[in-house]
Amino acid sequence: MKNIAVFTSGGDAPGMNAAVRAVVRKSIFHGLNIYGIKRGFQGLINHEIVPMELGSVADTIHRGGTILLTARSPEFLTAEGQAKAIAFLQDQQIEGLVVIGGDGSFRGARVLHDAGIMTVGVPATIDNDIAFTDHCIGFDTAVNTVTDAINKLRDTATSHERIYVIEVMGRDSGHIALQAGLAGGAESIIVPEAPFDLTEVCNRLQHGVERGKLHSVILVAEGAGSAIHIGDEIKRIMQLDIRVTILGHLQRGGTPTAFDRILASRLAAKGVDMLIEGKSGMMAGYYKGEIKATSFEDIFNNNQEFNWEDYKLASILAI
Ligand code: ATP
Repeated sequence: MKNIAVFTSGGDAPGMNAAVRAVVRKSIFHGLNIYGIKRGFQGLINHEIVPMELGSVADTIHRGGTILLTARSPEFLTAEGQAKAIAFLQDQQIEGLVVIGGDGSFRGARVLHDAGIMTVGVPATIDNDIAFTDHCIGFDTAVNTVTDAINKLRDTATSHERIYVIEVMGRDSGHIALQAGLAGGAESIIVPEAPFDLTEVCNRLQHGVERGKLHSVILVAEGAGSAIHIGDEIKRIMQLDIRVTILGHLQRGGTPTAFDRILASRLAAKGVDMLIEGKSGMMAGYYKGEIKATSFEDIFNNNQEFNWEDYKLASILAI
């Protein structure tokens, strides 16, 4: 193997740059030529390739976003788009590819693997919804960002004796809501994994009111329902002062935490090692305390488990 390439794909996540940096430097350390593809799968179709050198990734480890840019590529979902991408990689004599992204990006990576191009995945998505890796790059930073927002909103909630309903990212999963809710001491955490019970939320608030507590934080993962709607319902039932805040895309940005930078460095370096060892169609994950390669097939056939122990604990601690 002489020529390998790297790209970032899907939603951006803090720590992607640390992963790109590790791929570039580890490849150069092993005497490989390393190329960056801009804008993920769309960049393969549009022939956006740049040679990467040691200096290409200088001063990037602490930056959020991705220097290689990212995109969603509907064209790559078509047979024609895939054929263009594969032809480009063959034309450029790229023998190995590191795809940094989420579940969708790995489905695209498998297409390239099936076409005979050695391809490995590095999990990076703030949703943390990939099986066989306890952490995805970007999740820890997003949890810290949300926790920081809860701290700030709690100050004003306490001063004005108000209830804040905060909507966080997580279309299909409540991992951010759960971990940030536990860290921020949220009174209620509403996630798509658990049935939503408004009566239970109101009972908790009532319990607080009875002991003189008029401020509370309710955290809602976007996939579990609209914070605006939930806020309106609570207001209607309880006649309390409610404010709603939707954190939105600010959860995607920011300087990555030390945890995310270290995770990105380890997983990306492992991805390069896997290519050198001739492994393809696999992801480098951090699973049960070990850096481990798992096939895309196993990842697609399993879900990241929801942490029900933490969910119960958060509920107990918020009584
Ligand atoms: P995030 O979790 O942050 O959303 P992701 O990697 O899951 O990241 P997607 O938008 O699902 O993001 O996928 C990124 C790109 O991967 C898509 O735009 C598409 O080009 C490609 N892709 C997704 N699913 C498939 C598939 N089934 N077959 C081929 N390519 C796919």
